[in-house]
Amino acid sequence: MDASGSQQQQQQQQQLDDDWDDFSDSELLDISTELQSIDSQQALVDKTDGKQSMVGFDSPCESSTSMHDCTKESSGHQTGDVRGLKRKSLHEDSLNPMQRFSKRHLSVTLLCDQSWCEMKTVYNILKPHVKRKEMQCAEVQMGIDIHLSRELEIQDVIHVDIRTREDAEALKLLNMLNMIPLLETGKCVREFPVFGVQEGVFIMGVIDELMYNQKGELVLNELKTRKQHSMPSSAQDKVNCFQVALYKLLFDGLVRGEVKKDHILDHLKLRSHQVLGAGVQAHAKKIGYHVATFEDAVDAFLLTMTCCDLPCIDLLQLEYYHQGSKGSIGIRVVPFDEAQLRVDLKGYLEYWTGQREPKGVDIEDAWKCRSCLYEQTCDWVKNRLQISNQKAAGVN
Ligand code: SF4
Repeated sequence: MDASGSQQQQQQQQQLDDDWDDFSDSELLDISTELQSIDSQQALVDKTDGKQSMVGFDSPCESSTSMHDCTKESSGHQTGDVRGLKRKSLHEDSLNPMQRFSKRHLSVTLLCDQSWCEMKTVYNILKPHVKRKEMQCAEVQMGIDIHLSRELEIQDVIHVDIRTREDAEALKLLNMLNMIPLLETGKCVREFPVFGVQEGVFIMGVIDELMYNQKGELVLNELKTRKQHSMPSSAQDKVNCFQVALYKLLFDGLVRGEVKKDHILDHLKLRSHQVLGAGVQAHAKKIGYHVATFEDAVDAFLLTMTCCDLPCIDLLQLEYYHQGSKGSIGIRVVPFDEAQLRVDLKGYLEYWTGQREPKGVDIEDAWKCRSCLYEQTCDWVKNRLQISNQKAAGVN
């Protein structure tokens, strides 16, 4: 092999090593919530006659009565219920993916996954146990531990009893209300939630860290823990840059007052008059807010956001940290190209709003498939092979 061949092989190996190599606990917690939501939806689907199948195309592992029993699935031993499920093409299904997967919102994490490979994101939703397994690996757990200990360096954990979805969302708003004055007085805050509506879709995320630098700029810092003691490949870097840019878009929308009460209530299907639990009300009182209903919490939040002195984010940076040596690898300052971000985002959301079918990686990114758990069963790969076989047969 010549030098360029060997260099290419090294680059490809680094790219393969990079799949799921950068971890952020807030993202992973988001995934856990999503997996739970899919699990509960699956339970709902299992109780029906299967007419509303979650499967929009030939998945590698069809929807079954037990999404967690991979042995049965891989051995082809499927239940009668599975055989009864009709495979539907996306064209025949009147529901768009948001509706089909019962999603009220999308997380930044999910959109980052989608920017790596859209097809894989959809397979992950259809097979939550595969994603769960991926999250249980030692590197992911170590990433979560590092993030958690960082968060605990500056924030205490307070246990608040929540009983409804409105309680949970109100608590998130109260946490933000608690962090805003800290940030305004120059303190560093971690795990700051952000949300907003883009292209008609509600998007939520959690910013790792916000603080002012010595120049007085508001800096967003995203910690990425890595197994490898090296900066990420360009493919992984692209995903990470997209992530922080999207956080900025959402944060800036919040401080500019672009998020309205109806966005929160309508998209998330929350009850405005729901009385908040005693624990949530007591916690609100402790931090200086008197709220009785969910609407009170939303009003207090939106009023504070419009009156506070927070500016838009000035600087985006990615901080890479080596898991093994527990030392810094480097910091990457990320340029913010809003026009490009909006183009990319629009393209991703077109799938979720049913304007097109899901797609796999472009041919130049086919190396991603080599480390993908769905490689053997992926329709995108099968189609690609079929086309290249047909071309080869045509040539012969
Ligand atoms: S095999 Fe390739 S195209 Fe298919 S889901 Fe995996 S990465 Fe995407």
